[in-house]
Amino acid sequence: MKSHGVVTRVPGKVNLQLSVGPLGSDGFHEVTTVFQAISLFDDVTISEGVSKAGVTISVTGQTAHGVPADASNLAIRAANLMIKEYEIPADLEIKLKKEIPVAGGMAGGSADAAGVIVGLDSFYELGLSRDEMEKIASQIGSDVPFSISGGVAIGTGRGDQITPALAKGSYTWVLALSNQGLSTPAVYQECDRLREGLSIASPQVSEVLMQALRAGDAKALGKALSNDLQAAACSLRPALRLVLDVGIDYGALGGIVSGSGPTVAFLVSDEEHAMDLTVALSASGVVSSIARAVGPAHGARIIESF
Ligand code: ATP
Repeated sequence: MKSHGVVTRVPGKVNLQLSVGPLGSDGFHEVTTVFQAISLFDDVTISEGVSKAGVTISVTGQTAHGVPADASNLAIRAANLMIKEYEIPADLEIKLKKEIPVAGGMAGGSADAAGVIVGLDSFYELGLSRDEMEKIASQIGSDVPFSISGGVAIGTGRGDQITPALAKGSYTWVLALSNQGLSTPAVYQECDRLREGLSIASPQVSEVLMQALRAGDAKALGKALSNDLQAAACSLRPALRLVLDVGIDYGALGGIVSGSGPTVAFLVSDEEHAMDLTVALSASGVVSSIARAVGPAHGARIIESF
């Protein structure tokens, strides 16, 4: 008998590298990024909804505040796209249980969209390949294909062309969260403003960073972290510089604004180091809240069928 629903668990991410090329004539930037999925997860539950209600959504969990419960939610956009492409029933109930920070540069909305794609593929036994799912995903947002694949991967194009990367080891992160998000388009605009008049090269993956990942060398990885959006995020939110300084002063192996921010991700050597840095950041008063996570984590995957 067909199940009533499925639950898909989806990870947040940090960008170990984010290189941003010049602004293209289409209004977008070509980027080269190295993603790592980390162990902060949203759970996306999908079941058949009430007839003629369309796609409905409810949002709970520790980071539910500020998540739209309407058609602008990326989970609903993903469901509507899947309904159009694969002629599955149009009445669906989606429940999001959120742990990934909202508007924090950790791809929370993208993760939920990925959860819907993988969940619907399983629930309706569509048998989609990874490629087919990633194609649908890239129509919703640049980070959605990576949220499906998880692990460590290089993203090119708009970040949506994913190639898995060879990486050894596991990495411990301390995440300095902000209770006010930053808008991704606003951060890109600020980046363009700061670069005005400069000639910007095409983005390239950092060989030093890839080498650190292949060797499983956390110290070398900490030194190789880079983000072209960091200056723009700090310009819009100067307090982020203080956060970065505190983390580095307290011995983080590296610290970086994640994606378009405002989350700051610190790489540390182990759990004990993570605890010490958590205490130091809390005491500094410059951080709203702190989370710890490890990476790489798995991509979107079904954890329950009921
Ligand atoms: P990225 O790292 O991909 O740029 P982000 O982590 O900075 O994204 P999100 O958490 O995806 O940002 O949210 C950005 C905005 O998208 C939110 O402010 C919210 O209004 C909207 N949004 C739409 N759907 C969702 C969702 N399912 N979860 C969170 N936010 C969502």
